[in-house]
Amino acid sequence: MKSRKTRFILVGILLVGFIVLILCLWNQKKSVTYPLQMESDEKHQILARAHGLKPDSFYLVSVKRGKENIQIFGSSYDKNGQWVISDGKNKNRKQVSRVVMSDENGNLDFMITGDDVNTKSIMLSNLPKTYHICHSSNGDIRLVVKKEDILNGDCSEETIKQWLDVLSGFRKDMVALTGKKIDGITYVATETFAHYGLAGKPIYINQDYVREDLSKINLKGDTIEQTILWRYIHEMCHVFDGATEEQMESYVFDGELWAQLETLYLLKKNGYSFDDGKEPFWYFQDSIPLEQGIYSDEGLLNKLAHIFEKYDSNMSSLKAVIMSDRFEGEHSRSEKIQIFFDILSEEMKVSLREEFSDKEWKVAVQN
Ligand SMILES: [Zn+2]
Repeated sequence: MKSRKTRFILVGILLVGFIVLILCLWNQKKSVTYPLQMESDEKHQILARAHGLKPDSFYLVSVKRGKENIQIFGSSYDKNGQWVISDGKNKNRKQVSRVVMSDENGNLDFMITGDDVNTKSIMLSNLPKTYHICHSSNGDIRLVVKKEDILNGDCSEETIKQWLDVLSGFRKDMVALTGKKIDGITYVATETFAHYGLAGKPIYINQDYVREDLSKINLKGDTIEQTILWRYIHEMCHVFDGATEEQMESYVFDGELWAQLETLYLLKKNGYSFDDGKEPFWYFQDSIPLEQGIYSDEGLLNKLAHIFEKYDSNMSSLKAVIMSDRFEGEHSRSEKIQIFFDILSEEMKVSLREEFSDKEWKVAVQN
């Protein structure tokens, strides 16, 4: 009797083991991997490419970590993706992974460095369920995040959608302001790097900030009191200014100033604030005044914000600057600023030079 019972238990254990094995294999089958073409050079850099993928879609690269650290760089067609280097902060993890996006033709590439990378361990697969793609109602704004950041970020998916709908309205406003047909904006917020955000295709938002940022979204109450994470808008403006193209638009004499100026325009137009509930024209008031002889984009922005507040509070003259053909051809930075003020002066019907002291003007124009 005893031996029969033991045999029965043994068969049971074997059966359970078999079912677990089948389930594991089935699960592995579900995570589809894609073939990669790889080239490596003597500097131990591996360039991996994939073709025939779904256009503008997200995939996960994963590489087994060796003794040396491994770094995964973004795509070569995405200028800023190359600055977003995923090396896995957690040194105990056995693999390093990173989200990558295919281009509009379904091509994708990325680069890996590390002395002891085993090319066989480099895998490109569909985005696993630990990631989540949020989008606006019409799908023009996409945000890729780690699911844990939503779950722990104290923000519902419904709130995220409503917030992305606000960004969707801003995208339409930027199309109208610049005349540029940018149909969609994508944010990837799954990697960590040295900045808060980097504009590109996609726009990268540092994952370190995601959880806290999402929990700050507040769409209740008066629009000016709402928190809509203006830095996401700032990065979108960089894209409209040409951050994903070979060259920035010709009117851009200071990339940061322009992204902030357009952010200010969008916030004013739609009645929002820079997340502080205050009048947006006064957001830059703590910057170093140009009068001190030091140039900063915020110092000039503070000056500009008050000029707009005084003469053109809906900032409609900004469009005349963007649409102007006077920036065409070769122009130095100071020539561009001069043209910028010339157009604004004409639009506002006021000599803006008079709004600056000699010192302020010198600092603004000659930097
Ligand atoms: Zn910026």
